[in-house]
Amino acid sequence: MRIVVLAGGIGGARFLRGLRSAAPEADVTVIGNTGDDIHLFGLKVCPDLDTVMYTLGGGIDEEQGWGRRDESFRVKSELAAYGVGPEWFGLGDRDFATHVVRTQMLGAGYPLSAVTEALCTRWNPGVRLLPMSDDRVETHVAVTLDGERRVIHFQEYWVRLRASVDAEAVVPVGADEAKPAPGVLQALAEADVILLPPSNPVVSIGTILAVPGIREAVASAAAPVVGLSPIVGGAPVRGMADKVLAAVGVESTAAAVARHYGAGLLDGWLVDTADAASAAEVEAAGIRCLAVPLMMTDTGATAAMARAALALAEEVRA
Ligand code: GDP
Ligand code: CA
Repeated sequence: MRIVVLAGGIGGARFLRGLRSAAPEADVTVIGNTGDDIHLFGLKVCPDLDTVMYTLGGGIDEEQGWGRRDESFRVKSELAAYGVGPEWFGLGDRDFATHVVRTQMLGAGYPLSAVTEALCTRWNPGVRLLPMSDDRVETHVAVTLDGERRVIHFQEYWVRLRASVDAEAVVPVGADEAKPAPGVLQALAEADVILLPPSNPVVSIGTILAVPGIREAVASAAAPVVGLSPIVGGAPVRGMADKVLAAVGVESTAAAVARHYGAGLLDGWLVDTADAASAAEVEAAGIRCLAVPLMMTDTGATAAMARAALALAEEVRA
């Protein structure tokens, strides 16, 4: 079975670990968000691709959900001693090596998709990891700081400001001109099942869908498309997704996120048992909806979520 998953960072990566355990024989292609990418200290950092690669490859800091385990921060403190920042972005020594290798290969002319494949030969994530695009796309957020309207990089909004002010607009800069990376459209066309894991609907999955051709390829694919809600009981399970949902006028409920994707994209949607009462609202929008436990507390619980998503895909395919 060929499964394609559109993934952000932590939510996507943890779900993928469950999916691999639930369907070890499946051929899984991951289309990763690169809108969070940022250039720091002259290096190209791809937070979501790395979170997927490290999580599936066993190198992730489990507690934190991003970055390397057993990490140290000597390079960062040396940079700070030179007065070179930003200090708010946590780049550890082990992690630095990944960005050095990536930047070196990009500088030599390899596209990001080839670089990602090369990095994955070390980590063996057990999936084919494709960036959504080889072209530069960066999510920016419009905010008002000290009475002044400014547009800042998504990482500055998320990591430095911790989404403490409202996001007035979220713009995937460069997406309009970006092309899907090699293999992306073909994987969607040949998929047996397409899954939207509980990733951020705006800045992770929304950004992937903003690359011209990808939304159309998902919507027109022969495969059933099933998503899992990142919103449980009216709030994100983790992080500040409510802030970016508000920026696109979407309420932070499992049903509102399903309606935001819409019946044109989604065939099935899983909500948590805490949100079982909202299934009727999702079904009224033309999307088959079931309530199952959606907390990724361990690989067993996450694998059960993946099995539920695959079962729902079979149901809606029929
Ligand atoms: P990021 O790029 O690291 O922010 O990660 P993603 O975009 O892939 O996923 C972030 C989303 O995952 C957040 O909106 C969380 O609410 C959601 N999430 C995290 N843990 C869980 C979980 O255990 N269950 C569910 N349903 N969602 C989760
Ligand atoms: Ca992310």
